[in-house]
Amino acid sequence: MYNLERDVWLKIKENLRCFLDKDVYETYFEPINDVYKVENNEIYLLVDSVFIKNRIEKIYLSKMNLLLSKHLKDCSFVVVSRDEMSSPESNKNKLSFSKTNASGLNPNYTFSNFVVGDSNRFAHHIATLVADKLASVANPVYIFGDVGLGKTHLMQAIGNYISYSKPDLKTLYIRTQDFFTEYVKAGSKPGGYEVFSKHYDNVDVLLVDDVQFLESKDKTQIEFFKIFEKLSNEGKLIVLTSDRKASDLTNIMTRLTSRFEWGVSLDINKPDKTHRINILCAKLKQEGVDLDGFPKETLDFIASVCDSNIRELEGALKTFLFYCNVYDCDYSVENAKEALKNNISLNESTKDIFAPTQEIKKILDVVSTYFRINQDALLSSSRKREIVYARQLCFYILRNKYNLTFSKIGSIFNGKDHTTVMHGYQMFEREYNSSDEAKQNVENVLRKMGKNPNTI
Ligand code: ADP
Ligand code: MG
Repeated sequence: MYNLERDVWLKIKENLRCFLDKDVYETYFEPINDVYKVENNEIYLLVDSVFIKNRIEKIYLSKMNLLLSKHLKDCSFVVVSRDEMSSPESNKNKLSFSKTNASGLNPNYTFSNFVVGDSNRFAHHIATLVADKLASVANPVYIFGDVGLGKTHLMQAIGNYISYSKPDLKTLYIRTQDFFTEYVKAGSKPGGYEVFSKHYDNVDVLLVDDVQFLESKDKTQIEFFKIFEKLSNEGKLIVLTSDRKASDLTNIMTRLTSRFEWGVSLDINKPDKTHRINILCAKLKQEGVDLDGFPKETLDFIASVCDSNIRELEGALKTFLFYCNVYDCDYSVENAKEALKNNISLNESTKDIFAPTQEIKKILDVVSTYFRINQDALLSSSRKREIVYARQLCFYILRNKYNLTFSKIGSIFNGKDHTTVMHGYQMFEREYNSSDEAKQNVENVLRKMGKNPNTI
């Protein structure tokens, strides 16, 4: 029934299989062959006992959710056990499973766990004022910025604050994608549109996430416009988020985008390194990790390799904590390098740190023995045909297997210029794509290094 979610779960399951010890995998995950149900962006997995459920929740759930966020944004896993499902309390339990409340808000997104820095200080300040004084501050509030920088968090913090401080007001959070789907569904039922628009009639605070998804959806835009007009004329607060400035949205009617700009526009930018470290510290505290026992060097390392967005930063930290938990190892920077080598899209300047020097040494050893040439010659500028070939094969492996930059490879080969390396790499790549012999040589070298030859 839930094909998409099932496929995603099976992919994640496979990922866990590669990552976990065989016994752990077979006990906890192997039996889960399907999703149990999907509700409110939550994917339910059914396990045999409360014990297994608790273990998964305690040790693996954050990692599973991290993997999930790469496939389905804003979804999360919920683990339920058969015992719970069959108990008379099950209905009660079912309700408490949901992390979101009636307004659609996730209670974890609050001001108190939103870490402020230069990149979001102004947005945060205005958001707190709005949460307190509603539309009298500005209406609508339009929050924009790149993915993973905290727009949803800040918007929901406004909603959670209002729900708490003014419980009589009806606050409603909706993702634009869901607004669109609901609207399309409404069209398929008699009287559906009326029911749809009535849903928004008594709303006091409307939070609409990712309005860029209105682009090119003409009918939905018209309906949205009507709701927007009605609520804003009544002085009801509207908060919107988007991945762009309102004026940069295309294929949305200008009467709508111009209204988006009527109130206040708040941009959120990328956090600088100090801010990223502060965010990591806050997340560690939330995870119950003692900051004194967490090396500064490791914090610095994670903050350096994840410099593009907070979701990735948070994900890297969770992966690392998960890794330390599974392998029962300490929070050293070496372990962080190992844990994160496959999980994050590293920026160009930090790729190099992931090729351990022993591996580089190993390639040089294996290649020189394999081609029966002297290692000094391999590293030299000799133009002898067989030496050039072996050297270029090294470039090829170092680039494709270890993601090294051409400059880094150049520095290994006695300071060769990166353009020389790139040229050599391209020569070999051509050879590799056209000759079985080159492929065979790469495979043999990898095999002798103890690597899987199919992973290049
Ligand atoms: P966006 O909506 O901009 O794509 P989100 O609001 O979903 O980003 O944020 C991604 C993740 O990063 C969430 O888990 C969120 O809690 C976290 N996050 C974002 N900004 C902050 C912040 N300033 N302090 C703490 N956590 C943050
Ligand atoms: Mg978002």
